[in-house]
Amino acid sequence: MDKFDMWCNQKKEIDKKDKIIGLKERNIVFVNMGKNIGYEQNGKGELFLRPVIVLKVFNRSLFLGVALTSKDKKGSFFYKTFYKHKDRIYQSTAILSQIKVFDTKRALYTKGMIDKNEFEIIKEKIVELTLKREPRRELIGKLYHNDLPKSNKNILVTGGAGFIGSNFIPYFLEKYPNYNIINLDLLTYAGNLDNLKEIENNPRYKFIKGDICNRELVEFIFNEYDIKGVIHFAAESHVDNSIKNPGVFVRTNVDGTYTLIDVAKKHWMEKPFKYKDEYQNCRFHHISTDEVYGTLSDDPNDLFTEDTPYAPNSPYSASKASSDMIVRSYHHTFGMNTIITNCSNNYGPKQHDEKLIPTIIRNALQENPIPIYGDGKNIRDWLYVLDHCKGIDLAYHKGKEGETYNIGGRNERTNIYIANKICEILDRLYPRNKESYKNLITFVEDRPGHDRRYAIDASKIENELGWKADENFESGIFKTIKWYLEKYKGLK
Ligand code: NAD
Repeated sequence: MDKFDMWCNQKKEIDKKDKIIGLKERNIVFVNMGKNIGYEQNGKGELFLRPVIVLKVFNRSLFLGVALTSKDKKGSFFYKTFYKHKDRIYQSTAILSQIKVFDTKRALYTKGMIDKNEFEIIKEKIVELTLKREPRRELIGKLYHNDLPKSNKNILVTGGAGFIGSNFIPYFLEKYPNYNIINLDLLTYAGNLDNLKEIENNPRYKFIKGDICNRELVEFIFNEYDIKGVIHFAAESHVDNSIKNPGVFVRTNVDGTYTLIDVAKKHWMEKPFKYKDEYQNCRFHHISTDEVYGTLSDDPNDLFTEDTPYAPNSPYSASKASSDMIVRSYHHTFGMNTIITNCSNNYGPKQHDEKLIPTIIRNALQENPIPIYGDGKNIRDWLYVLDHCKGIDLAYHKGKEGETYNIGGRNERTNIYIANKICEILDRLYPRNKESYKNLITFVEDRPGHDRRYAIDASKIENELGWKADENFESGIFKTIKWYLEKYKGLK
């Protein structure tokens, strides 16, 4: 039984004994979902229509309805709510004077019916149910009111429940006590709130489940939290998925980035090249990848620099390249204070199971074949995730506006080297009977358009901002394997 069920049962008991008339009214919670969507005039006066969620508390039903706000003869405001359930229209009315505005102007509850704690329990349930059933589910974001410390600066981090974001947020929160972080994440298959357990109760942290493409929600967040900086990680990030379903990559990575930066521009700027006084220095930091540069030859001197022309080869890298171009154009056309960082392959704790390093470790521990694409000689430049986070921190705070910085670990490794290295470490830390884990390595058909080599020249961020990776591949992979051993050891 969840908290909500327990609460309903308690309430039912109280209600049975309750002699006050109007019990029916008392069983309904309206949650006002924001702006009016219509306006009418009739004989009785003016009517405003707005979407509401109607939660029938005791039988735990949830409906999206329409509320009519009007004045009665005595001048009291009425909320008349209509909602549809199994083809019947239900109606319920509450007088505004009986409705107390709770914390936020957007969430209402009938006066005296529930207290703050009870409201939180209901809110949690509304979020859960709405996300399951309602098409306009992102509107639920309107329930998230700003209770963060007011003296702090509010930074919007997108995609913070993913691999890099969930390493970044705890690091950033700890390093900057004068920042609050609002984490907007849709929790796609790639997002996992367990990654953020360590900070979920931090009073300077707020999680909002929602889509970066939902302009209404993004505007709500900018207004409610008066956002003063954006660090944008949210993306579809797995190349294999972009081959199966490119559309979602274009939507999230291109449309999503456009929506965010456009809302930021409106919130921060008076007109092109003129920031509003209170938003001077507000910065939009876009997290991107070295994959936008295409592929390199095997010549070790051939490296991606910030001047390498873009030549994306997969729908993933093409969508990231497009989003980089949008950010670039907002700097050049509107004078927005932007930063782009293009980073090489990250590895470390909290990465999704689907990615190369977790896949190798998991399959090894499960005694499954360890799949390696093609001849295993594709080269990536590997960077420990916390070194990436430190690079983002430096670029966000010290980078020159409008600039791009490449971040890479100078750790070029072939995929087969990585698989062998992981097997060697596992042989030491978690030995298999008599055999080496290496015997599980199996070459599988290469993916289409698989880029051969990526490698970053990180001189610019090293020389201009003093960034340097703390981990080399050997130290980083050891830490990473220990972390995944904890995660996967039950699987063996
Ligand atoms: P990830 O796939 O682990 O996480 C992405 C997060 O974004 C998830 O939590 C997901 O729920 C969220 N998300 C997806 N669509 C969303 C939407 N429409 N609205 C809101 N949230 C949404 O990715 P990652 O590996 O952490 O990468 C983060 C960023 O860094 C991406 O922009 C990626 O392109 C870039 N990057 C990653 C690497 C790498 O090696 N992982 C390297 C360079 C750059």
